[in-house]
Amino acid sequence: MTASSAPTSTTPAAGPRARVSARVAGIAESATLAVDAKAKALKAAGRPVIGFGAGEPDFPTPAAIVEAAVAACTDPANHRYTPAGGLPVLREAIAAKTRRDSGYEVAASQVLVTNGGKQAVYETFAALLDPGDEVVLPTPYWTTYPEAARLAGGRCVEVFAGPETGYRVSVEQLEAARTPRSKVLLFNSPSNPTGAVYSPEEVRAIGRWALENDLWVVTDEIYEHLVYDGARAASMPVEVPELADRCVVLNGVAKTYAMTGWRVGWLVGPPDLVKGVANLQSHLTSNVANVSQRAAVAALTGDLEAVAEMRTAFDRRRRRIVGMLDAVDGVSCPLPEGAFYAYPSVEGLIGRTLRGTPITSSAVLAELVLAHAEVAVVPGEAFGPSGFLRFSYALADDDLVEGVTRVQQLLAEAV
Ligand code: PLP
Repeated sequence: MTASSAPTSTTPAAGPRARVSARVAGIAESATLAVDAKAKALKAAGRPVIGFGAGEPDFPTPAAIVEAAVAACTDPANHRYTPAGGLPVLREAIAAKTRRDSGYEVAASQVLVTNGGKQAVYETFAALLDPGDEVVLPTPYWTTYPEAARLAGGRCVEVFAGPETGYRVSVEQLEAARTPRSKVLLFNSPSNPTGAVYSPEEVRAIGRWALENDLWVVTDEIYEHLVYDGARAASMPVEVPELADRCVVLNGVAKTYAMTGWRVGWLVGPPDLVKGVANLQSHLTSNVANVSQRAAVAALTGDLEAVAEMRTAFDRRRRRIVGMLDAVDGVSCPLPEGAFYAYPSVEGLIGRTLRGTPITSSAVLAELVLAHAEVAVVPGEAFGPSGFLRFSYALADDDLVEGVTRVQQLLAEAV
């Protein structure tokens, strides 16, 4: 033993050392990926499982984007390391797309390209939060937010809004959750998991509240193009321009261009924050795969025809699934205005019994639905309180009808 590692009187008593750090041991598995993996494994084993778990479009990536990637594979420039913060041409394309789609004027230097929106979430929290800092988190929330905030040392304060208010929180609720440790408001509209879309007036009111209280806003706009019934996804720094210096916009190509597997996302923020995150990413992952970045350039500089087609299909399925779910005794399903999720309350079923098993929570119900109807759904516990199920309707129309029919038939047995 060397002198520098010898125990001293101040060394804590040696106990059994944990094999995995407390930080990592405290992370829950992504429930949405877990449900999807379970459904796929059952399918591979020959079971006729229908999956409503996946948060990804069921369409292929448009051909022009794939062709750009194929061409990029043959260019040796793409076989090398490139700047950690993203290819300059992609950062320019993201700045131009941001102007085009939401009206937010930003420079390419304010853009950082990440390995999917997920990495942008984690890096943003890492850049903003010190231990004990609080994130005000409208709930139900996307399952990654609290885990990423916790990993960065932060603490989430949940603000729940149920179906009675369209799953949209009010300024009064946010104010009641604010403490001297509040640093960030996480905002996501259209929302995963509820499909809620805040009106421009609501976005403005919430943005002004954040501004008045010196909060940062992290606003996740990844479902911006998936809105229905004339709803508009308003961008918070456009509605409240004074917020720009304390606002981070998260986005990516995954949902708009059916590119979940390509892993390209980004954040847009004030230059000092973007510089800090670029330094972090330079040690974490370096540049996003160049072929994927080139595909993203093709996506963002092309038209929005593919997402318009997907939107038409999603809209049709949305009406269908919501109508079918809402017809079930004990289930209440509001019509979502965005994304591709239906988020029914199943509170009316809690306390009943299904095939001999008491339904004590939505987690139990999701297990029963998988076991007896061979339908995979994600329980509300993955996104906050129990009492809800998330159905992604990004699957073929026939499968959707077959899957929900099975759920209807099974739940009719609950007594
Ligand atoms: N933000 C929200 C609200 C999401 O639902 C997702 C994916 O499910 C993401 C961000 C990240 O997507 P990706 O990492 O695939 O770009």
